[in-house]
Amino acid sequence: MSDLCIAQETVVVPQIRPKIETAVQQTEPKKPKRIYQSACPALMKGEIEAKILPPIIDDECGERSPLALKSILSIKPVRLSSTVKTNCRVASAMVEWVKKLNAAAEVAYDSSVSVILSGNGYQCRRRNNLPDGKISEHGFANAIDIMGFKLKNGDDILIKRDWDNDPEAPTVSGLFLRTVHKAACNTFTTVLGPESNQFHSDHFHFDLGCHGKTCTYLLCE
Ligand SMILES: [Zn+2]
Repeated sequence: MSDLCIAQETVVVPQIRPKIETAVQQTEPKKPKRIYQSACPALMKGEIEAKILPPIIDDECGERSPLALKSILSIKPVRLSSTVKTNCRVASAMVEWVKKLNAAAEVAYDSSVSVILSGNGYQCRRRNNLPDGKISEHGFANAIDIMGFKLKNGDDILIKRDWDNDPEAPTVSGLFLRTVHKAACNTFTTVLGPESNQFHSDHFHFDLGCHGKTCTYLLCE
């Protein structure tokens, strides 16, 4: 045995004490969930009187930035008889169409439209309320229904009563309604009136749905 025998060292292993949780967990107030919406140029430019509403999330239906549309303020202000929940694209198309509407009212009645007798805007349902089929554009707040008009001179024009079924012998109101129906076909992608089907015998339906692969096909009936 050598004198250089190495003595074994005793290794002291430090005891690891379990950490005692002393810090009291702070409960931070929950931040409200951010709502993402888009601005509406027509509202910013004062072309419409409307209020932005919270997003609609409703099963298969919805719209991120719906508006409560009250009036169209292009040239001569035209009020809606009841506020319509719709989107910015429809509200903006209405601005364009109301210019033609008032021009037609000047020609036909020497007056202008003061009130649009409005029907449905947003409504989560299938087309023509049938149980199967595609979701109506109303389900995306992308449509508006119009029942008639009130003129500044006090006259009422109702699509149900005044739509002229004989275009060969038109009445003043019948001609006016056909003119404004046709004018909408340059502004909206879907325009349905009393001659489209039984579901539209008393109103115009305007929407900005996409038809065809390129979204450029127009439906004007
Ligand atoms: Zn409709």
